[in-house]
Amino acid sequence: MAAPVGTQAAWVLIHDLAAKGKPGLRRKVLEALASTVDAGVAAEIRTALGAGNLEAAVRAIPWGRGWAPDLTAAFTGELGPLAARAGRQAIVSAARDLRIALDAERLPLSLVNERAVAWAEGHAAARVVEIGRETRAGLRRFLADGIADGWSPMKLARTIRETVGLTEAQAGAVARFRRKLIADGLNPVGAAKYADKLLRVRAENIARTETQEAVNAGEAAGWEQAVTAGWLPPGQEAEWLTNRGDRTCDVCESLGGQRVAVGGSFQASNGETFERPPAHPSCRCARILVVEPVKKTAAGQAA
Ligand SMILES: [Zn+2]
Repeated sequence: MAAPVGTQAAWVLIHDLAAKGKPGLRRKVLEALASTVDAGVAAEIRTALGAGNLEAAVRAIPWGRGWAPDLTAAFTGELGPLAARAGRQAIVSAARDLRIALDAERLPLSLVNERAVAWAEGHAAARVVEIGRETRAGLRRFLADGIADGWSPMKLARTIRETVGLTEAQAGAVARFRRKLIADGLNPVGAAKYADKLLRVRAENIARTETQEAVNAGEAAGWEQAVTAGWLPPGQEAEWLTNRGDRTCDVCESLGGQRVAVGGSFQASNGETFERPPAHPSCRCARILVVEPVKKTAAGQAA
């Protein structure tokens, strides 16, 4: 099997775009996650908890007002342009690897931009719903743990701002940490600092995964555009590139090295199919176009 030649740089460039886009998205995600509770909301939560209604307390957070629109705007505003940049990069790299000279007709960038923006909008809508669900579960967990620890509605409402935005697992970790501090005779106020750290971890994880989604979607849009423009053969193969290490999961391990025609799906050992990386949050896999090495003639000339 011929090894892919000259294409590694293409995926490095794409990953590089994701890395550059990450800090901006992380900041906006953090702002959105932290902008959830104001004084009115805290009062509503206190009232609901006073009435023993945990679900009403969770519902008091106005997910549809500031939070979801902020997060949606962050995703579309950051990920759309990022996907478009990746699309342009993918086209330029593919043309270089296939030794095709690009002209305006072969590089209709407005179409790549359109595809990238449409992708970002659809993606943002789905992810914001998912992140909202995880965040709600985190809030419910925080309140339930507080109630179990005998906290008053007043105290819960007062401290909620520190914890809201965490996932269920993170909220549980904060509760365990707080209990340990108390058991060790230490000031439980340290738990707030821990919660803040975990919130940053969550924003970082979201930003890392979403920027990877964006560049891979953008790359796909670029390749599709090149196929539409007629210079990238529809049967051109792409290979799943897995960065193997100690932490490589079974799914990515089984995907690594697979080749499918551009636009086709890769199949993991567990039966799951993937159009492109990432296969999971924080997946570092990539795709590359399979370009055969230039054949040498007997005279040693490139054919
Ligand atoms: Zn992976």
